[in-house]
Amino acid sequence: MNSSIADNIARVRAQIQAACQAAGRAPDSVQLLAVSKTWGPDAVRQAYAAGQTAFGENYIQEAVDKITALRDLPLQWHCIGPIQSNKTRWVAEHFDWVHSVDRLKIAQRLSEQRPPELPPLQVCIQVNIDGGENKSGVSPQELPALAQAVAALPRLQLRGLMTIPEPAETEAQMRAVHAQAQALFEALRQQGLPLDTLSMGMSADMAAAIAEGSTMVRVGTAIFGQR
Ligand SMILES: *Cc1c(COP(=O)(O)O)cnc(C)c1O
Repeated sequence: MNSSIADNIARVRAQIQAACQAAGRAPDSVQLLAVSKTWGPDAVRQAYAAGQTAFGENYIQEAVDKITALRDLPLQWHCIGPIQSNKTRWVAEHFDWVHSVDRLKIAQRLSEQRPPELPPLQVCIQVNIDGGENKSGVSPQELPALAQAVAALPRLQLRGLMTIPEPAETEAQMRAVHAQAQALFEALRQQGLPLDTLSMGMSADMAAAIAEGSTMVRVGTAIFGQR
């Protein structure tokens, strides 16, 4: 019953390919981010051995320990969890990407604290796409101003948007929410921002997200197992 991490990755990649094909999209137009939160360095090493190089983490302290323990591998680390002001330095010093920027103050601190010897931090703005209460993310109304301000920060490179929609019952509902995110993304591109990343879709809504233009899906449980 325990399938290996390598088998799981192969299966998820096949699902991504099938979803791309169904949507008439190129099979390499969607990147897989393996969400390794709560799993230790050994699990990440197994995933790397199966060809996976991009990993997502939610808990910053846990992630920094793991990133440090895996310095010998050429991995790309994505912060996908909420960021408090007192943790921005750790994020700026250890991660390659951040998907969860949702206010200017955090973005400014990340830009100021990004070490000069590292490339710019790659950033997505998290959008509260369905207005869920108690949820992180900037509102769609506030997004354009925040995106322009973040794009102007010297040590960040704004790449796109990230969403975490509420679970929906039907495929049509999932697609409708993802389509809203895609429309916001396109509107920002129309305003001249050179964005290329739409981080949306998890295990349960991957196909719907890919049908609506996702370029990066974030998958944890289907790769590493139940947390
Ligand atoms: C945990 C998490 C995921 C992965 O969720 P799974 O259900 O384990 O696939 C994706 N995105 C974010 C922001 C997460 O916190």
